[in-house]
Amino acid sequence: MSAEPWGIARRDGTGTLATRADVLNRPDHQTDQTRITQRPAGEVWVELGSRGYPIVITRDDWGSLGGRIKQKLPDLTHALVVCDAAVRPRWGDGLVEGLRSAGVGRCDTFEVPSGEPSKSIEMLGRLWDWMLASNADRRGVVIAIGGGVVGDLAGFAAASFARGVRLVQVPTTLLSMVDSSVGGKTGINLEGGKNMVGAFWQPSLVLIDTATLGTLGQRDYRGGMAEVIKYGVIEDAAFFEWLERHVERLDAREHEVVAEAIRHCCRIKAAVVADDERETTGRRAILNYGHTFGHAIEATAGYGTFTHGEAVAIGMSMAARLARSLGRVDDAFVERQDALIIGCGLPTRWEGADPSEMIPVMRKDKKVAHAALRLILPTRLGHVELVPCEDIDRITRAIEACR
Ligand code: NAD
Repeated sequence: MSAEPWGIARRDGTGTLATRADVLNRPDHQTDQTRITQRPAGEVWVELGSRGYPIVITRDDWGSLGGRIKQKLPDLTHALVVCDAAVRPRWGDGLVEGLRSAGVGRCDTFEVPSGEPSKSIEMLGRLWDWMLASNADRRGVVIAIGGGVVGDLAGFAAASFARGVRLVQVPTTLLSMVDSSVGGKTGINLEGGKNMVGAFWQPSLVLIDTATLGTLGQRDYRGGMAEVIKYGVIEDAAFFEWLERHVERLDAREHEVVAEAIRHCCRIKAAVVADDERETTGRRAILNYGHTFGHAIEATAGYGTFTHGEAVAIGMSMAARLARSLGRVDDAFVERQDALIIGCGLPTRWEGADPSEMIPVMRKDKKVAHAALRLILPTRLGHVELVPCEDIDRITRAIEACR
């Protein structure tokens, strides 16, 4: 029935999304007569009509990624490669070589200093200037190589330069593979707010080669696991259980297990994005589980104190405690979620958490409607809802419970 190793999503009746994701990604799935009917195994398709695109997951295939890009975009003659500085020597330069071998005549490279501060107005300005100096035009393609920082920055440059040039995402962190490279959210931070300026701009292709995880530092790898756990909590109890059973193998970065987790997360994300591309129905907002608290943790601790994933892990712990105090979930839910987070080497607490600092930041969240806070809260494993919540005492207690 199901080829998935956990294989119980259909049995417990909670797998409605997984079923939809599977249907969308069946090799013979066809919703539009003009599009492909055969999908190679292992590819995940983001179903967005004429803007749909594949997520290709490979292993140790870096040398042929240039050729894959050229194959997908045959008219590509000018590659605007935007690469994380730490990723360039080991991975970026090789991809440029591959593009050249595939016949892409012009390849220019912009190196982005590693780290969150690069998602800034200043760096975006430098990137635009570089694109102009490189004589980029709408026939060019921006190729973002790196984690979520480079993907978000380069994606926004692609969305805005010359009113839009094509984009290929080549994520090299676990977080960017399972989350930021898929779905078209791009943007930068303002001094007063994370991801406050940006655009929806879908890539033409997402290329994931899991070999790149081999050079990723431990903290960044584990940070990505927070987003992986998130998918289990918000949408797929069977996947959550599978993660519980594979914690050690995931932490050891065993290829088969990691690749399966990435594929499944991409399927869930693809299905959610296909349902609500621009976050208008509330469906896509579920992907922000733990993020309203998490963004406030990142901002009040000072960017760089926690990785994005660590902040999301603590944020999910706070959200679970708020949900429990509202009677939405029980103790067992909170304990199980904590255990998986801790098992993945992530924090559930921050002793510096200060509700009087965090709550004003949470009010700037993009889910706020008419100044009222709205939070993604679980009702059971595999299901969350967008809940208006102005009970500041309860939110305060949920934050304090994670100190
Ligand atoms: P990141 O891009 O800062 O990468 C983390 C670190 O890993 C950096 O120091 C980088 O130099 C290094 N690195 C990247 N790939 C490497 C590799 N293969 N080997 C060695 N080092 C490598 O952080 P991230 O965790 O990937 O992404 C976080 C960002 O993503 C945040 O800005 C967050 O807001 C954003 N995000 C966006 C979305 C979206 O939908 N657009 C979703 C989630 C998160």
